Parts: sequence; structure tokens; C-alpha cells
Amino acid sequence: LGRKLNAALSSLNRASVIDDKVILGYCVLDALLKEVCAALLESDVNVKLVAQLRQKVKAKVKAAIEGGADKGKEQNRRNVVQKAIFDELVGLVDPGVEPYKPKKGQSNVIMAVGLQGNGKTTTCTKLAVYYQKRGFKSCIVCADTFRAGAFDQTRQSATKAKVAYFGSYTETDPVSIAAQGVAKFKKERFDVIIVDTSGRHKQESELFKEMVQIGEAVKPNMTVMILDASIGQAAEAQAHAFKESANFGAIIVTKMDGHAKGGGAISAVAATKTPIIFLGVGEHLHDLDKFSPQPFISKLLG
Ligand code: GDP
Repeated sequence: LGRKLNAALSSLNRASVIDDKVILGYCVLDALLKEVCAALLESDVNVKLVAQLRQKVKAKVKAAIEGGADKGKEQNRRNVVQKAIFDELVGLVDPGVEPYKPKKGQSNVIMAVGLQGNGKTTTCTKLAVYYQKRGFKSCIVCADTFRAGAFDQTRQSATKAKVAYFGSYTETDPVSIAAQGVAKFKKERFDVIIVDTSGRHKQESELFKEMVQIGEAVKPNMTVMILDASIGQAAEAQAHAFKESANFGAIIVTKMDGHAKGGGAISAVAATKTPIIFLGVGEHLHDLDKFSPQPFISKLLG
């Protein structure tokens, strides 16, 4: 995308030889935006969002140039276009909503939801490590009774991370496990209690029903959707489906260390008006980066 953007911008430079603001505004800008939008689509940003972005950038650049922001200079003109594109993209991943922040001296319950394979269990441990490092006594409750081996995975990764955990090999009701685990850890005055839920069921409707029930049982302060960057365009529909039942208040995008640029995640944020709080950037316990819009967009732009 970066390469394309640069190519498009240099064609803009060539056009500035004509030095005609009208041509710049109505023709060259159009061609430039076409290039950028094609590249955004390739990075899995949703078609509708791209179309909106195009309109907004166009309006912004025209207004800026007609207002004389470029002072008639080609370098300034280039900056105006670049800034408009960058700002619009940043706006897309910043829904203007403050995510919940765990507070010390109280129990903060965080419930993780998302489809199996998205990196939920790994991310729960990463989150526990993140908060533990910052002085929050942290723990994990494994409320996934559907997948054989789920509790073992939690046990292993929590042990490795040196965080407390709770789960059961015999109890089959995830709602009961979640409630028991959260009650136990609250009594023991843990600051951050992370509840890992199932990511698969015989039927999707069962999965969503279970999430609602667990949510009612543990009353999370924050529900986090774990979204895999590599699923691309599918992220939007997935986020929509989970928002309706789990009403999550934050998103963590995993596997950002891979090939995916996270364009799908942008669409998920825009569709659910929910902020991204962290990025998963690897398989290890410390591979969790705090999210901020600018670096994310810079990466998207290559
Ligand atoms: P769950 O089914 O949603 O609980 O997913 P898991 O936590 O079991 O993760 C599925 C796979 O994705 C595992 O092999 C993880 O090591 C891997 N994984 C999770 N997060 C990341 C990440 O940020 N980067 C990479 N490269 N792999 C990840």
C-alpha cells in the first residue's frame, strides 16, 4: 500500500506542473484516491468504508486547497492529501469511546469472547501477565467445557506465566464454573479476573446463549472480543454477531505479526463502534502491544 500511495502521490506531483488547482481538485485527486482505495480494499477494509473514506478525503482536500492550505506549492499539496488520508484512516479505528480501565483495590472481571482459533486462550494469559506486571493480582477462569483440552491449555499457560487459574475436569456446566471461579477469586481479593469462554458449539446459537448466561453470572466489568487479523473481511460479520449477544466493550486483534494488515479489524471497529485495546503480535506471553491508532495505520499503509 505504501508503494502504491507513493506512486500515486508522485503522479500528483507530475500533474502539479500544470499548476491548475481545478485540475488537481477534480481529476488528479480522483485518480490518486482510486489507487489508495484499491490498496485499502486489498488490505481487507470493507467496500462501503472505503467508499465513504474516498468521499470524505475528497471533500477535505478540495476544501483545504481551495482555502489555500497548499499555498500553491506541490510539496504542500502532497502533504495535504497525505494528511487527509491518514487522518481519515485514524478516525476509522478510533470510535471515540473510552474502554474500561481496571482499577486497583477492587475486583475487575474481564470476559473474553471470540471464535475458536482466534487466540482467545493465549490472549487471556497475555492479559493476565500484562496486568500482573503492572501490579494487579491477576488470574484466569477457564469456562470452556466444550473443547476437550481447553482447561489443560489454560493450566499449562497459566502455570508458565505464574498466574493463578481455576477450572474443572469434571464440571460440565460452563456457567457454574465461571460463577464459582469468579466468586473464589473475588473472595481472595484478586484485582483482575479474566474469564475465558468457549469459542465453539454444536450450533452457533448455543454458543451465543452460553455467552449471555456466563455474562449474567459473572457480570463482567468489560467484555473483550478476540479477533484474528488473518480472517480478513470476515471480521466484520463476526464482530457484528458477537456484539449482538455479548455486547463487548473492547476488541483485541491477534496475529498482527503475520501477513494480515488488519484491514478487516478496521471494518469491525467501524461496524461495532468499539475500540481496539491491544494487538497480539506473537505466540509468546509478552507478545501483546497496547493499541494506538497512528502506528496501526502506519503499518496498514506499509
Ligand atoms: P482459542 O481457540 O481462541 O483459544 O485460540 P488459542 O489461544 O488456542 O490460539 C490459537 C493459535 O493461535 C495458537 O497456536 C496460538 O499460539 C496462536 N496465536 C494466538 N495469538 C497469536 C498472535 O498474536 N500471533 C501469532 N502468531 N499466533 C497467535
